[in-house]
Amino acid sequence: MDYDVAIIGGGIHGVGVAQATAARGYKTVLLEQYDHLAEGTSSRSSKLIHGGLRYLEQYEFSLVRECLLERSYLLKNAPDLVKLTPVYIPVYKSSKRSPLMIRAGLSLYALLGNFSADARFKKVKKSQWNQLHGLNQEKLRAVYQYYEAQTDDALLTQAVMASAQQHGAELILNAKVTNIKIKDDHSQLSYVNDLGQEVVLTSKVIVNAAGPWAASVVDCVQPKQKNVQVDLVQGTHIVLPIQLGEVIFYIESPKDKRPIFIMPWYGETMIGTTESIFEDDPSKTYPLEKEVDYLLDAFYCYFPEQKNKDLIVSKQYSGLRVLPRSQKNANQRSRETIYLRDRINKPRLLSIFGGKLTAYRATAEHVLARIESSLPSASNHIDTKDLKLVRPGE
Ligand SMILES: Cc1cc2nc3c(=O)[nH]c(=O)nc-3n(C[C@H](O)[C@H](O)[C@H](O)COP(=O)(O)OP(=O)(O)OC[C@H]3O[C@@H](n4cnc5c(N)ncnc54)[C@H](O)[C@@H]3O)c2cc1C
Repeated sequence: MDYDVAIIGGGIHGVGVAQATAARGYKTVLLEQYDHLAEGTSSRSSKLIHGGLRYLEQYEFSLVRECLLERSYLLKNAPDLVKLTPVYIPVYKSSKRSPLMIRAGLSLYALLGNFSADARFKKVKKSQWNQLHGLNQEKLRAVYQYYEAQTDDALLTQAVMASAQQHGAELILNAKVTNIKIKDDHSQLSYVNDLGQEVVLTSKVIVNAAGPWAASVVDCVQPKQKNVQVDLVQGTHIVLPIQLGEVIFYIESPKDKRPIFIMPWYGETMIGTTESIFEDDPSKTYPLEKEVDYLLDAFYCYFPEQKNKDLIVSKQYSGLRVLPRSQKNANQRSRETIYLRDRINKPRLLSIFGGKLTAYRATAEHVLARIESSLPSASNHIDTKDLKLVRPGE
C-alpha cells in the first residue's frame, strides 16, 4: 500500500486534512491539479475568519459556535495571517432588521463566543458617526460595532500545507486525478502528471476535497457511487482603489437586502459578494457585469461621496459555494458541511461538500473521525489546535 491517506485538492480543506492526518503520523499525500495551491474557492472567498452572524437567522447555532472557536485558535496560532478587525453594522429606517434585532443577534453571537473579549459589541454614539469614513447618515437609526477576523485565504492555505509538510505530508502539484477505483480494503487512484503521464497510487482511504469539482470527482469512481445533490453558487468580489480605514462595513444591498461586506484589502477596498447559480465547468467562473454593477450600486448607496471620484474597479474575481440543492435562496440554505462515504465502517473514499474557510481545522477533525476505522492506530498524537502557522516567505 502506497499511502494511508491520499487527498484530492489543494484548497483549504485538502491541506487541512493533510495537516491533521500527517500530525497523527499517517502516510499522507495531497494531489492538486494546478501548479499551485488555492486556485479554487480558497483564494476567492470573502477572506473572513468569522462565526457567521447571519447564520443565526437559520438557527445554525452549532456551526456559529464551532466557527467562533476556530477563529479563537487561528487568532492564537496564526497572528501574522489572521487579524481581528472592527465591523460596523449601520441600521437605517429602510433596513430589513431593526436595531433591536441587531442587538439581539450580537448578544447571541457574544454568548456563542463565550463572552470573550473578541465577541464583545457596542452601539456607536451618534456623535461618532462622522468618523465612519463618509458612511451615509441619511435616515441612519443606529450603528453597531463588533469584531470579525480577516485573512489572506491563499496564504492561509499555503501556511497550513507547509505545516502538513513539516509533519511528513507529500504534495504533488500538476496532478489531475482522473480515475478512482474502490477495491476490497483500499482505493486506487490515477492522476495525470506534469509530463502528461498517467500515474497510479493506492491508499487505505482517499479524501475527495475537490471543492466545486467534488461531485465530478465522485462521478469518476468505479464502481459507480451515489452522489450528493448540490448546487454551485457563484459569489463575486470587486476591489476599488481607495482606502476606508482598517474597518469592515456589513451592509444590506439596497436592491434585495442581501448582506454585503465592504472590507480593507492590501490598501484598497474589497466589496462582496453576490449569489448566482452556476452550471458550467468550475474552472470557467468569472464575474458577470450585472454582479459588478450590483456591488457598485450597494457601495455608492452607503458611501455616496465616493461616487464623484470615478473609481475604476482594480480587481474582480468570483468563487463557487457548494450548497445543498434546494428551492431556497442561496443565502438561506444550510452551511453545514456534508461528508459522503462509500460505506460507514472502514470507508475507502470520503468526499467533502461545502464548508467554511474558518472551520477548516474542525472539518479536518470531522473527516479524521469518519475515516479512522480504515487506518491503523495513530503513531503520533499532535493536536492541530496547538500548531503554529507561519506566513509563507517568513
Ligand atoms: C464567494 C465566497 C465567499 C466566501 N467567503 C468565506 C468567508 O469569508 N469565510 C469563510 O469561512 N468561508 C467563506 N467561503 C467558503 C470557503 O471559501 C470555502 O468553503 C472553501 O474555500 C472551500 O475550500 P475547498 O478546499 O473545499 O475547495 P477549493 O478551494 O475550491 O479547493 C479544491 C481544490 O481541488 C482541486 N481539484 C479539483 N479537482 C481536482 C482533480 N481532479 N485532481 C486534483 N485536484 C483537483 C482544485 O484545483 C482546487 O485547488 C466563501 C465561499 C465563497 C464561494
